[in-house]
Amino acid sequence: MTQDGAWEGYRAFVVDRKEPESDTVTSFYLVPQDGGAIAPHHAGQYLGFSLQVPGRMTPVIRTYTISEAAADQDHYRLSIRRELAPPDAPDALPGVSSNFFHDHVEVGTELQVRAPAGDFVVRPEGKGSVVLLSGGIGCTPMFSMLQAIAAADTTRDVWYVHGVRSGAEHAFGPEIRVIAAAHDNIRAHVCYSQPGAGDVAGTDYDTEGHVTSDLLKELLPDTRPMFYLCGSTPFMKSMYNGLIEWGVDELQIFYEFFGTACELKEKPPVTAESAAADMGLAADTSFQVEFRQSGVSATWTPASGTILDLAEANGVDQDFICRAGMCHTCLSTVLEGETAYLHDDVVPPPGDDEVLICSARPKTDVVIDV
Ligand SMILES: Cc1cc2nc3c(=O)[nH]c(=O)nc-3n(C[C@H](O)[C@H](O)[C@H](O)COP(=O)(O)OP(=O)(O)OC[C@H]3O[C@@H](n4cnc5c(N)ncnc54)[C@H](O)[C@@H]3O)c2cc1C
Repeated sequence: MTQDGAWEGYRAFVVDRKEPESDTVTSFYLVPQDGGAIAPHHAGQYLGFSLQVPGRMTPVIRTYTISEAAADQDHYRLSIRRELAPPDAPDALPGVSSNFFHDHVEVGTELQVRAPAGDFVVRPEGKGSVVLLSGGIGCTPMFSMLQAIAAADTTRDVWYVHGVRSGAEHAFGPEIRVIAAAHDNIRAHVCYSQPGAGDVAGTDYDTEGHVTSDLLKELLPDTRPMFYLCGSTPFMKSMYNGLIEWGVDELQIFYEFFGTACELKEKPPVTAESAAADMGLAADTSFQVEFRQSGVSATWTPASGTILDLAEANGVDQDFICRAGMCHTCLSTVLEGETAYLHDDVVPPPGDDEVLICSARPKTDVVIDV
């Protein structure tokens, strides 16, 4: 979903303010360099960035949620968590883009920005109760959604349930409490898994431990709300499957991945026949895919999945993040042949010869410049 007033491709924005939200999360307020109007956004949508990171030969493409509902609409706010090397790979490089933002993006820095996009949105004026459920930096779309619902002044019941390690990493804590205190229909519940020495139960957080489906059963009256989920993959899997087990219909659960997307729900294994049927192809369909730069050729069949799946299965390296055709990290050039997308949610790249291989299959024999 894109917005009225959206622009094509990238537009120059300038950082107007930079403010810490916690020890690990910093907000950046962006205004258009041309002084023109910005496109309105739905709460939950994100912006795409093409970043010139020192020491990198090619632009780094990343996606960040607009972290407020911004009634005045003269800027966009992002809130970015600094990503360090993961505990199981302490020697890995820290996150490229998030550390670039924290260490090099200052007031006055110019950034190349794509227009607001994304379908993980809430309609503030909608009916029915809503649970905004986040872990860690997954709070950015939830905070924006909460602000939008509060501003709409509806009577729908809202629960903002958030899990984070401690107060040092907790973004938007005071703002959430102010919103909840001002609206009888809005309740907030914050869990700290490892509260710090200065963190006060009942003030900074409500429960020590992780957000669990048992906690949700205590907080919520029944299984009828719409559930919005965002957080790490283990958090999302645990919440999603806990809700399904409780009896929540999967159509009531909406979610967004910030990292590599995966299936949250166990599914029956894909067979050659079921994959072909899903794509509307004969089971014996096959095409040759050449990954030119890698010097690898492979036979694609419907059971191979996307071109990215085929690349991975054949040891071909290509960056990706969302696996949903949104973030453009896997953008590749088609040198020969034709491709087709496997679903309608893709945000297509501008060039006729460009393809998001995470969401595409070959339509003929193809040569991809990877
Ligand atoms: C729709 C959407 C919305 C998003 N919104 C937000 C948001 O509001 N706020 C936010 O902070 N983020 C958001 N993200 C996530 C964001 O886009 C980036 O993915 C995130 O900032 C990490 O990017 P990075 O370049 O810093 O890290 P990367 O360089 O991509 O690295 C990611 C992690 O991998 C580790 N790593 C690197 N190399 C290795 C290796 N060899 N072995 C093991 N580990 C390694 C890094 O240390 C790091 O921890 C969003 C993502 C999506 C898809």
